[in-house]
Amino acid sequence: MKKEKKKIKVSFPHMGTISIAWALALKKMGVEPLIPPYTNKKTLSLGTKHSPEAICLPYKLILGNFIEAIEAGTDYVAMITSPGICRLGEYGTNIQTALKDMGYEAKYIELSLYDGIKGLYNFIRKLIGKNDVILIAKSINILIRTIFVLDDLETTLSYYRARELNPGDAERNFKKGLKYIVDVKHSRELKEAKRKAIAEIAKTKIDKDREVLNVDITGEIFVVLDYFSNQNIERELGKMGVQTRRSLTVGSFLKDAIIPKIFRNGETHLQRAFRMAKPYLMRDIGGDALECVSDVAYAQEKGKDGIIHISPFTCMPEIMSQNIFPSVREDLDIPLLTLIMDEQTGKVGYITRLEAFVDLMRRRKRKLEHQKASEKEVEKV
Ligand code: SF4
Repeated sequence: MKKEKKKIKVSFPHMGTISIAWALALKKMGVEPLIPPYTNKKTLSLGTKHSPEAICLPYKLILGNFIEAIEAGTDYVAMITSPGICRLGEYGTNIQTALKDMGYEAKYIELSLYDGIKGLYNFIRKLIGKNDVILIAKSINILIRTIFVLDDLETTLSYYRARELNPGDAERNFKKGLKYIVDVKHSRELKEAKRKAIAEIAKTKIDKDREVLNVDITGEIFVVLDYFSNQNIERELGKMGVQTRRSLTVGSFLKDAIIPKIFRNGETHLQRAFRMAKPYLMRDIGGDALECVSDVAYAQEKGKDGIIHISPFTCMPEIMSQNIFPSVREDLDIPLLTLIMDEQTGKVGYITRLEAFVDLMRRRKRKLEHQKASEKEVEKV
């Protein structure tokens, strides 16, 4: 009997729901995804124990994910990298050294973001060990399409969560819906899986007339997308009747970094950032700082009730954007809350800040509506 070739196991760090997209793509490549437990307190403690004290929070969590993945038997740990101004370019070397010092054997493989689609192609080629153009193209296709589907589902969740009658229903239904995506085998099944997932979320009973606030969430992409490091900010805001929209998504990032120009329409997030961050910030200073500064202006243009900026403690680009916000505030009239996350961030103080911010936005919104109503009355007279 022919012995079946053992599949290699590959792990990625968590960041929101991205493990679902990676898992589908890895399966398509014939590689076994090994998904470590979603980031939790143990992950953080493992990562923190083996990290330089002042390094940014995502590093500690990613290292923790890798330790848990290796303990669970992965052959490879895979990571994204980009050279340049922030610490992301240093993550790879530091992670490899830390894992080696701990005596772990897993191989480390990197996806270079600055090489765009070519970098992704080469990354998959190395993983599967052959230059199978069709297989690589199919893997890229399912990866990218799944990411866009997941972004859409998160947006749908946010709508229902801000209006749900029974707290927690929308998220429960969202998780049920995700199962349809997890079970997808071919990219042609994604459309139907998405329809079923949205139908599942739409089973949530809602109050359509609830007075809902619309808030954008911007900041360093990892903490914006990672529920653990942002203490599930969108869930907390949803409970307060706030519908959130992430200014940074994996999909928007793909359009800027991976998807070739000929396959995308309209202005990308980064292109908009260069246009709207002026005159406060004129160039890309690393991380997501340029996007964050422009997102405040964009949120105001779109008539949002407020914007929240989240950053990891010691994140260099976001320290810059936070120092630019006072000038932005002088010109723009939109409530802006900045939150800095680290392993010490306590839940109670954090919720109190959110509640105060929501209260401020609600009073402002009512005042503006009242003013508009009065102006209309005057016009009638
Ligand atoms: S953007 Fe900030 S948090 Fe993210 S890797 Fe760079 S320095 Fe660290």
